[in-house]
Formats: sequence, C-alpha cells, structure tokens
Amino acid sequence: MNKEAFNPFAMAQAQFDKVADFLELDSGTRELLRNPMREYQFSIPVRMDDGSVKVFRGFRVQHNDSRGPSKGGIRFHPQETIDTVRALSTWMTWKCAVVDIPLGGGKGGVICDPHNLSMREQELICRGWVRQLARNVGPVQDVPAPDVMTSAQHMLWMMDEYEQIHGGHYPGFITGKPVGMGGSLGRTQATGFGVIYTVREALKELGIKLEDTRVAVQGFGNVAQYAIRLYQEMGGKVICVSCWDQEDQNSYTYRKMDGVDMDVLLGITDRFGGIDKAKAKELGYEILPGDAWIEQDVEILIPAALENQITGETAKKIGANVKLVAEGANGPTTPEADKILQERGIFVVPDFLANAGGVTCSYFEQVQSNMNYFWEKEEVLEKLDTKMTSAFRAVSDLAKKRKLYMRDAAYVIAISRVAHACRDRGWV
Ligand code: NAD
Repeated sequence: MNKEAFNPFAMAQAQFDKVADFLELDSGTRELLRNPMREYQFSIPVRMDDGSVKVFRGFRVQHNDSRGPSKGGIRFHPQETIDTVRALSTWMTWKCAVVDIPLGGGKGGVICDPHNLSMREQELICRGWVRQLARNVGPVQDVPAPDVMTSAQHMLWMMDEYEQIHGGHYPGFITGKPVGMGGSLGRTQATGFGVIYTVREALKELGIKLEDTRVAVQGFGNVAQYAIRLYQEMGGKVICVSCWDQEDQNSYTYRKMDGVDMDVLLGITDRFGGIDKAKAKELGYEILPGDAWIEQDVEILIPAALENQITGETAKKIGANVKLVAEGANGPTTPEADKILQERGIFVVPDFLANAGGVTCSYFEQVQSNMNYFWEKEEVLEKLDTKMTSAFRAVSDLAKKRKLYMRDAAYVIAISRVAHACRDRGWV
C-alpha cells in the first residue's frame, strides 16, 4: 500500500458513509457525524535542556460528545498528523457507543519523539499541552488517557497542571493514572479479559464448548497475555503465540501443541517483549516463522499485535477448523480479508467491540476518580464482564435479526446510538 496516499480519516469517513446509507441517515446528521465537532491545534513552546526554545505542535480533536464527555488518548509521535487524530477520535466515538458507556470520542497528540527528549522536556510538553486546553478539557468535557508513547507519568504531570490551573483536585480529568494516584485496579487486565468475555459469548452463539477449543494468538504484549491467561483459566488451550524479536528484527511463532505455559514464557521474555528462542526450544517449543500463527489447526484466532495482519493473502491460509476471529488489536483485518472471512462464515468479533474492555475500564477509572472512592479488583472485573457481555449480545442479536456481518452490526448499533443522541438533543 502507498503509505503517502493512505489517509485514515478518509477511511473512517468511508466506513461511516456505508453505515449512514444503511441507516438512511438524513443529510444533517451525516454532515455532523462524518466530521469532528471541535478541533484544537496549537503550539507548545519548550525551553530545552540546552537553553534553546523548541516549539511543538499539539492537537486535540473532539469528534462527538452527544452521549457524554469526549474520551480518548494522547499520542506522542514524530509522524502525528491532524487526520490521524481525527480518525482516531471518530473511532473512539463508535467504540464508546458500542459498549454503551456515556462518553463521546476524542483523541489528541503532540508531534514529538519522546526517545529524543529528557524527562524534564517531556514534562514541559505535558504541562504545555494542558495549559493550551485547560478550559476545553476536564471531567465534564473531555477526558484524556495514555496512548502510543505516553505513560502513567505523563498523565500525572497533566493532571497536576490541570489541578494547578483550576485550584482543586480533579482526578476525573484524566485516566491511565497509577493505582494509588487515582488509577483503577483491573486496568492492566481489562483489554485482554474483555476479549475473552466476548470469545466466551461468541462460542455460546456458535454452540461450541470453550473447553473443546484451541487458540492461536498473534502478539505477546498486554492484550495477548491477559487474553491467554483468562482463556486458559476457563479451560481452553493456546497452542501458539507469535511475537517480535528486537534483536533479529523479525517475528516468530512459538508453538507447543499441548498448550503454551504463560508463566514459563514470561520467564524467558526480555524487556522488549521478545521470547528467548534457544530457551524456548529447550523447553519444547517449536520456533516457526512469524506469520505461522494464522495457519494453525485451531478453532479460534486472536490477532493481538498490530494492524493489517489478516490480509487478502494471509486470510487464504486460515485453517479449515477456524470458527472464530476475535480482534484484540486495532484494525488487524483488511477489507479484502474481511470479505474472505465473511464468505467462509467465520464469526468475527470486530476490534472496536472485542478490545473495548480497555476504554470501559478507563470509564470505571473516571467514575471512581470523580467519586474519590475506589473499588476492589473483583468489583471492577465483574462490572467489566457485565458491560462487555451485554455489548456483545446487543451486537450479535442485531446481526442475527438483520442478517448482518458482526462488524457491520457493531457499526450500525454505535452510529445509530450517537445519531439518536444528537437528534434527542435537538442538534439535528
Ligand atoms: P504491546 O506493545 O504490549 O504488545 C504488542 C505485541 O505485539 C508484542 O508482544 C510484540 O512482540 C508483538 N508484535 C509486534 N510486531 C509483531 C509482528 N510483526 N508479528 C507478531 N507479533 C508482533 O501492545 P498491546 O497493548 O498488547 O496492544 C496490542 C494491540 O491491541 C494494538 O493494536 C493496540 O492498539 C490494541 N489495543 C490495546 C489496548 C490496551 O489496553 N493495551 C486497548 C485497545 C486496543
């Protein structure tokens, strides 16, 4: 694909247009929902460690807040563009709506490379970002979170700046904070566990016992690890994981037909998340090419690494027994591959439903922060299960009723909820 020509916002709008046609939305609603409601673009001047002043470009896009305050991460990336932020904020609107949490969609960013910045310089960027937006973000307006290359530390600096400006404690301004400083228990597990709650429900729909299934996973990071843990606890067998090897600049699949052992694999994983091949071999793992995960003889595939992994090419290699694909990663399946999955009758839990456990738990963090009262981990995970299960059921019920592909049904639910909110408020 020509990277220059790829515009994620054009893609987000094309996806929207398709569903808008299906829902026969009126022109006013279409115009409102296919564009962000508000966009902020600003400069953040920073006195660098060497005494010079560097000016960083910052963004915040609030796509739609008809259902509640905007919600979405802040990315620090050298190639950040306003169109990427627009697209991501649009997808956040649909993601919050599909799990039916009372939040809208937002996203932000700063063009910078944290690898080349000292901690002090990063702190000044965080504080500068908040200073530019202090009147336009907050617990009842727009609630940021970490994303690519931003961490809990960045969120704490931002929270502190916001509190300095407004003269009070507002932990509900931002999520992704450390536990003990306004963070929520269960956030680490939330996305991976959420994926498995939807897998459990999908298997019920398909009439397959979870204990009789095998899974191949792409990725061995946060989402993959907690998905594997919960799925194995429920009695399923994970036969392989695929992950990136920093040293070789290549990916490998680590396979063990009688089931991978998470704790053993974690014990031989380096700080970049790569698994030690020699030790894995000694422990009885087969080392296969990175894309071998997709062609395994399993019932379930969980892509939980990165986008564009199930393509027109790789989808052809999917094993005959695969009944379910649960998209832990964002955008792992290309439109071409989607057609193949649909033709083969493979049940797909689309990314913005399958991995919505993360944002749902962030919503719980915001609720707890606003109350200044924090729940036990079990309570968080129980509430997460309830939310994910009912979101899954709503989408799969609609898919059955209107004979829709799961991804289309999820979009139809999300977009119609937001359209209704805009209409009920009298905006359109
Ligand atoms: P992570 O950085 O913790 O893990 C990524 C994993 O992918 C690593 O194990 C890495 O080795 C592996 N990987 C990278 N390139 C690979 C390749 N070519 N082949 C095989 N494996 C490869 O990231 P994460 O937080 O687990 O996120 C994974 C995906 O889930 C991303 O698409 C992310 O946007 C999405 N997501 C994450 C969350 C969350 O809460 N963490 C929420 C929603 C969506």
